[in-house]
Amino acid sequence: MTGKVRTRIAPSPTGFLHLGTARTALYSWAYARHYGGEFVLRIEDTDVARSTQDSTDQILASMHWLGLQYDEGPIYQMQRLERYREVIAQMLAAGTAYYCYCTPAELEQMREAQRARGEKTLYDRRWRPEPGKVLPPVPEGVPPVVRFCNPPEGDVTWNDLVKGEITINNREIDDLIILRPDGVPTYNFAVVVDDWDMNITHVFRGDEHINNTPWQINIFRALGAPLPEFGHVPVILGDDGQKLSKRRGAVSVTAYEDNGYLPEAMLNYLARLGWSHGDDELFTREQMVSWFDGSHLSKSPAQWDAAKLAWVNAQYIKAKTGDELSPLVAKQLQKRGIDADDRLAAICALFKDRCETTVALADWAAAFYADITVTEADRAHHITDTVKPAIATLVEKMMTVAWDKASIAVMIKEVLATHALKMPVLAMPVRVLVMGTPQTPSLDSVLEIFSREKVIERLRKA
Ligand code: GLU
Repeated sequence: MTGKVRTRIAPSPTGFLHLGTARTALYSWAYARHYGGEFVLRIEDTDVARSTQDSTDQILASMHWLGLQYDEGPIYQMQRLERYREVIAQMLAAGTAYYCYCTPAELEQMREAQRARGEKTLYDRRWRPEPGKVLPPVPEGVPPVVRFCNPPEGDVTWNDLVKGEITINNREIDDLIILRPDGVPTYNFAVVVDDWDMNITHVFRGDEHINNTPWQINIFRALGAPLPEFGHVPVILGDDGQKLSKRRGAVSVTAYEDNGYLPEAMLNYLARLGWSHGDDELFTREQMVSWFDGSHLSKSPAQWDAAKLAWVNAQYIKAKTGDELSPLVAKQLQKRGIDADDRLAAICALFKDRCETTVALADWAAAFYADITVTEADRAHHITDTVKPAIATLVEKMMTVAWDKASIAVMIKEVLATHALKMPVLAMPVRVLVMGTPQTPSLDSVLEIFSREKVIERLRKA
């Protein structure tokens, strides 16, 4: 490949960073890194009514959380209005754009007439200057828009990095509005000026933009600007086969952060959702960068699979040490008003293998820091009259035993021998009383993390 690869992600700050956009960001980032290029973040905030600072902040935070570092940006389109107006002025002078004074009512009339004739509703180019054509008189008090002189005939063809060759005929599209009366450009125009000015060589984006691409290619050509390559990534479908949307569950990156997913796992899962490298399911960011050359991108929609994501997350949790997990779990505990202490790393190490998320880990850890509830069913089932004397002996011995795993293990064995009981008969009720559940890792390792006083206090409730 000649020249430096430059990719970008260009979210609109009208909501959180959507999972689909996060995946496109990942592909753009990995592609740039693979080819030793650069990755740019642009905030497309020209939809002034719907853009918010809060959304921008959330998007930046999600990019940071995912670890998708950009080399330039964030660049805000609303800070580039002068540049867009400058290009518009050049286009007006060159005759590749023109003023249109149609009122919304006129446009509606035009569309209605077209519908009545069974035609496609396209702007009829009544204000487009043409040799020998007499334009309507300029009405008073109508602020004009600027429209692009789209070629009326001919095909626009590009070799899409994901979908292969795509051709759309110019007769399918009309003379697009590129500048609104308020002086703010529209998406299809601003995106071209930006991709041109920012030397973007490869545009990855969602395939809902395929129909915009012919306009953009025509504008690039009208400006004499080099064309980037385009790769349109298929949508992500929800479990139900419909487009992933808010109504169908969490679609924002933030929600997954809140729900205890690790950024590494999210990236790994998102990467596989529309791209493959053989049968590899688990890989590092570095491996992805070394493999992501633009091939093996899927042409068809990917299906969101919450269970698979949970499995991927579990693998990443398992691979981390207690020390690594502890700050993440501490954050989850804090949300519940629980301040953890330095036992948390040991708790994480002990429970991580049975957890899919850091929220699940926090559920376990909470038993060490906050009150537990023992259900009546568990109490009735496990804390039987047979076992109560053994629990009493255990409490007795606990007052003086050395408080470490090995000594605790020996003590439990002694109690079992004294009362002629098998391990589960004693271990289950102790777990229920101390942790609130009969299913935990080995009793000695659990008890060791508690203070002696706490265990005795809970066992006395037998
Ligand atoms: N702001 C557009 C979006 O969020 C960007 C599309 C593009 O990448 O060109 O969909």
